[in-house]
Amino acid sequence: MAVRLLPETVVNRIAAGEVVERPASAVKELVENSLDAGARRIDCVVRDGGRTLISVVDDGHGMGVEDLTLAVERHATSKLDGEDLTHIATLGFRGEALPSIGAVSRLSVTSRIAGADTAWSLSVEGGRVGAPAPAAHPPGTRVEVRDLFFATPARLKFLKAPRTEMGHVVETIQRLAMAHPATGFFVGDGSRSVINLPPAAGDSTAARLDRLAAIMGRDFADNAMAIEAERAGMTLTGHAGLPTLSRRNAGQQFLFVNGRPVRDKLLYGAVRGAYQDVLASDRHPLLALFLELPPEAVDVNVHPAKTEVRFRDAGLVRGLIVGALRHALAEAGHRASTTVAAATLGAARPEGPGLPYAERRAVSPGIGLRERAAAYQAPLAELDAPPAAAVAVDVAPVEEAPPTDYPLGVARGQLHATYIVAQSADGIVIVDQHAAHERLVHERIGRALEAGGVPRQALLIPEVVELEEVAADRLAARAGELTELGLVLEAFGPGAVIVRETPALLGEVDAQGLIRDLADDLAEADEALALKDRLGEVCARLACHGSIRAGRRLNAEEMNALLREMEATPRAGQCSHGRPTYVELKLADIERLFGRR
Ligand code: ADP
Ligand code: MG
Repeated sequence: MAVRLLPETVVNRIAAGEVVERPASAVKELVENSLDAGARRIDCVVRDGGRTLISVVDDGHGMGVEDLTLAVERHATSKLDGEDLTHIATLGFRGEALPSIGAVSRLSVTSRIAGADTAWSLSVEGGRVGAPAPAAHPPGTRVEVRDLFFATPARLKFLKAPRTEMGHVVETIQRLAMAHPATGFFVGDGSRSVINLPPAAGDSTAARLDRLAAIMGRDFADNAMAIEAERAGMTLTGHAGLPTLSRRNAGQQFLFVNGRPVRDKLLYGAVRGAYQDVLASDRHPLLALFLELPPEAVDVNVHPAKTEVRFRDAGLVRGLIVGALRHALAEAGHRASTTVAAATLGAARPEGPGLPYAERRAVSPGIGLRERAAAYQAPLAELDAPPAAAVAVDVAPVEEAPPTDYPLGVARGQLHATYIVAQSADGIVIVDQHAAHERLVHERIGRALEAGGVPRQALLIPEVVELEEVAADRLAARAGELTELGLVLEAFGPGAVIVRETPALLGEVDAQGLIRDLADDLAEADEALALKDRLGEVCARLACHGSIRAGRRLNAEEMNALLREMEATPRAGQCSHGRPTYVELKLADIERLFGRR
């Protein structure tokens, strides 16, 4: 067969395969065009998940008849000046969206420049371009896409149910809307409104938080840290959720590069790295981060859909993100999210209103009606227990003046040798002493490491711990690293190690348990990873065997010292796994619990 040039329609259909994967990708291209045109209001109608109709109407700068005719031609764009692909400041630049969409659907574009006497309209049907004709339309542009993929039946077959496609459309528009709070976004499905985001007023940070709250929810806005950092001509802004407000997947992480929503492995990895000390690896923070950098420092022309980017200096970008998030987490101090109290109330009152069913399930897992009925009918175990053994309350004298200066309040007692109950200015604080202590130890060891070493304390009688031979070898191989963390041990014949010193800040340590657990941790650990990179886990381990573990009685002085240290310690609101270290119930919450409100 001879080599031939492909006809234009076929070229456009091939390009459409890359640019327009599904209705949401067409919507993305059209809305991006509206934003590039400076629109302040964008109205969309998406019928049957985008299969029968997508219409996008904007109040942007519009097009005259010449531009309109050019716009539907392949590689025609007003956004690239000459040959410079390194200075892309608009969302579009490839000049292939309109011709690609026109190749696989029935497309019509109507546009009018402000001040022009008339609008012009043009249609493209399966790649065949019609003649422009005058039309009636206010300034701005209306694009209508009917019967998407009618010209490519194979693609049509791969469309999912309208609900699924609509879900993708909504997500796509929400992402763009997050980056453009000053523009109003309105989307309907032909019968009802599915997105209603009026333009946010106010200065840009407040406007953006408003917009984020409208999309990600009030809980996010109430429990997010403002992020602001700058390095080497790059800036990072946005909002990041407290660790105690986390999700099982990364679906609520929104990342933007120069206003463009991206899904980029490097950026997700940086987020994971920043939170690794305060969140379990299967939990994910909520956040919306906006990275701005000079156009020449990033290549957005990696993929036709433009959702991937390539940074000229990836290390610098990662450093900026990790640094900014860690700084914010440290600044957040002992703050834990307000949703913790809501979840607590939900758990205490499984039938109560206020929490969606799924969340109620999540906070009281596995407590079914049957179990509760059985528990109700069971004999009361407490009647047989020795009095006061299980519920010893160490009551601190109640002072006249309510404590107002301490955010975490004044300790009033310890329950079950595990929980500290404190009175704050307007509520009750319940602290999980073990989780709190674990976090404090983690932070102290981290600081000591930075300052040049963890102080150690020699054991009066060195302790010999018997282990399997591989486990003992593994520990001995890490002896140098463990010494830095304050733990001095060495091999003691085959299958044993001898422990000589432990980190002073742990107090009295159960060396046998600690060494056995550490050996287990190391068995699972990646050989190549330094212990310092897994400091969270190692410190959690150390803290577990230190002096304030659960089950130890504390006196009032010790309890208050713990509360004060929590207030002064960065990241004290959650343990290394992102579980809260304390719960605060406001008086208002408690009143609600008793039906007083
Ligand atoms: P690109 O956005 O990559 O330039 P498109 O095919 O999406 O390519 O659009 C081609 C051109 O049509 C754009 O460069 C722009 O000049 C014009 N255009 C498209 N949509 C609009 C719109 N909503 N308002 C004003 N001009 C538009
Ligand atoms: Mg475009």
